[in-house]
Amino acid sequence: MSKQPSNTVFHPASAPDFLPLPQLRSLQLRRLQAVVRRAYERVELFRQRMDARALTPDDVQCLEDLARLPFAEKTDLRDTYPFGLFASPMKDIVRLHASSGTTGKPIVVAYTQEDLQVWTNVMMRSLAACGLHEGDIIQNAYGYGLFTGGLGAHYGAEALGATVIPISGGNTQRQLMVMKDFGVTAICCTPSYFLHLIDQSQECGVDIRKLPLRAGVFGAEPWTESMRRRIEAESGIKAYDIYGLSEIVGPGVAMECQCQTGAHIFEDYFYPEIIDSKTGQPVADGEEGELVLTTLGKQAMPMIRYRTRDITALKAERCECGRTLRRIRRIGRRADDMFIIRGINVYPSQIEAALLEVDGALPHYQILLTREKGLDDLEVQVEVTPEVFGDTVGALEQLRQKVNQSIESTIGLRAKVRLVQPRTIKRSEGKAVRVIDQRKM
Ligand SMILES: [Zn+2]
Repeated sequence: MSKQPSNTVFHPASAPDFLPLPQLRSLQLRRLQAVVRRAYERVELFRQRMDARALTPDDVQCLEDLARLPFAEKTDLRDTYPFGLFASPMKDIVRLHASSGTTGKPIVVAYTQEDLQVWTNVMMRSLAACGLHEGDIIQNAYGYGLFTGGLGAHYGAEALGATVIPISGGNTQRQLMVMKDFGVTAICCTPSYFLHLIDQSQECGVDIRKLPLRAGVFGAEPWTESMRRRIEAESGIKAYDIYGLSEIVGPGVAMECQCQTGAHIFEDYFYPEIIDSKTGQPVADGEEGELVLTTLGKQAMPMIRYRTRDITALKAERCECGRTLRRIRRIGRRADDMFIIRGINVYPSQIEAALLEVDGALPHYQILLTREKGLDDLEVQVEVTPEVFGDTVGALEQLRQKVNQSIESTIGLRAKVRLVQPRTIKRSEGKAVRVIDQRKM
């Protein structure tokens, strides 16, 4: 069975991906003016903030004017829980989703019929961008339910004309059986769950490399380039990065094309800016900062200048695929995931990259933060291959030191490294739990 990506068949719905820039910019401006007006007229919080700045929707004359408008933040969704930011009456709202919310109230998002069509459209274009098409058999292992992942991918796959298997998350044995028996060609899930499937496949006597599976649409958690290389090498598939967040639409805000050089933002519906997190000022294309998104087509819950807390940079140069949509550099760093240890800011993805530099270390790890006598401790537990584990104590110690050095040279801190046997670290069926913070705040 060939593992080469099939010749890309562009779905007609992908046409906006290739709009000439002047056309795209004028479409964006038209939609921006409409959405700002809608939010101003229907969302009290937004109107108050505009009034406080003595701004009206008429002040948006060009795309640059967007930078004069107030930001929206996650706390706005919490403060107005559950329906305070809705711009449509409930009779026009046909779907609600909510974040799981580990503490306190979740955030609630709403869709009109038209919003669902937009979401379906961008998800379909996402799947088409990585070379999927009619005839593909897509195993959708994102969770179905209040989480946006499952249904988002589902409707996009159906609209594409592919065959979708709504298996949802969990039940790994059944996932592998279906993958093999149904001739699955693409899978949607978190990258960590796919790693778990690879792991289990060996135990179940399924060789993923020999199956028709050729693409993975991986998202819902940050992952690194090193992780992509591991996944591709171990499974023989192409691993693509999809980006999205419920506050904006769900998955399908941005997606990698087959060039795998950053995710194209579906700019006709989501307008991106990058700002300096501290000053709130926009930075130039190519510079790193926080991603801010404005929904250009949202009816039920327009988001103007929503601060995503994701750190990235915009790539404005034209992609080899021909899409005119700007790309975002891979998001390895979510401001929300950052932890501070001994005064140093650390992102889990930095540790992931450091670990995966070392041969023998497996992409399963967990970071444990503890505090003893006022001193913070960072422990990294990482699984190692059975070969290393079965080797001499000396070899194990050598590997431990290598991992230690790799982490130290990446984050500038010494961590306590604990090598553990394969399958010691608890697997997750959705987003992986990378950091356990046991410090008493
Ligand atoms: Zn491209």
